[in-house]
Amino acid sequence: MEKFDWKNLPFGYIKTDYNIRCIYKNGKWGKLEVSSSEYIDIHIAATGLHYGQEAFEGLKAYMGKDGKIRLFRWEDNAKRMVFSAGGIKMAAFPVEMFGEALFKVIQMNKKFVPPYGSGATLYIRPLLYGSSAEVGVKPASEYTFLVFVTPVGPYFKDGIKPVNMLICRDVDRAAPMGTGIYKVGGNYAASMRAIIAARDGGYANTIFLDAKEKKYIDECGPANFFGIKENTYITPKSESILNSITNMSLIEIAKSLGMKTERRQVTVEELASFNETGACGTAAVISPIGKIFDPENNMIYEYCKNGEPGSETMKLYYKLISIQNGDKPDPFGWVSIVD
Ligand SMILES: *Cc1c(COP(=O)(O)O)cnc(C)c1O
Repeated sequence: MEKFDWKNLPFGYIKTDYNIRCIYKNGKWGKLEVSSSEYIDIHIAATGLHYGQEAFEGLKAYMGKDGKIRLFRWEDNAKRMVFSAGGIKMAAFPVEMFGEALFKVIQMNKKFVPPYGSGATLYIRPLLYGSSAEVGVKPASEYTFLVFVTPVGPYFKDGIKPVNMLICRDVDRAAPMGTGIYKVGGNYAASMRAIIAARDGGYANTIFLDAKEKKYIDECGPANFFGIKENTYITPKSESILNSITNMSLIEIAKSLGMKTERRQVTVEELASFNETGACGTAAVISPIGKIFDPENNMIYEYCKNGEPGSETMKLYYKLISIQNGDKPDPFGWVSIVD
């Protein structure tokens, strides 16, 4: 194990020993190749650079108390990457090979997996992009898949704390029939102005509304939104949001805790009726929301009035992380052990 200050590790990039690459050429995928370089050689006319033919994934490996490394729902990430590839006309990277690449890159970088109890984890970043030269607008004929890992610190260094969000009406992240349902870099480029404006205003992130009517909640920056009303977990249904695996898991956990769950349109006004709200995704698992400011109506929706996250949110949070790090049994079959 390297001597890192695990608890104070940033959520950023740290060099590890190896990454894995694979090339699609002449209609088929080659073999997984191990590299110790942090750089790629890329054609100056690659479609990934010019036309945004690029999709990625993000997941984590967790060190258990038992010294075993656990991967959470990796097949779902693999399938989502296949879905994203199809959405922007790229060659799909096969699910089986995706698993093989993940297990291998983790095994080869074992010493970078943060210890149990540090709150830090090994973040895994698979990437797929069009790598052959095109000048006219069309899909590449060659693709590159790669996966690197990097240890990341706990998202909340001093324990999970409520964050404030800003409702955004002057930037759309994705159109209803566009690419919002795919995990592609283009959506992030489109959201950057709004995210920076929110941060500059002192908010953790922005809440995007549906692009068509500006009536319904879409997403919370790069995370899904949920609200809790009495005993019901409610999360938006929309044609332009990314299907978060964390959100899917929280829905199952909510059900297992006897809560009702609803996936349906959520209007901005409905924010007033929630007891608790939060953003969810792999990076932070859950960011409880303290306040949501809507500048258009000069409205502030407030939760966590005592400065602490709500009790239902924390129940869901602890249940999920205890499955991820192996403290609790996994009745859902979500966890794979990496030997
Ligand atoms: C990755 C991502 C999420 C979170 O998905 P998880 O599978 O839970 O990590 C949410 N929204 C967007 C836009 C994303 O790209």
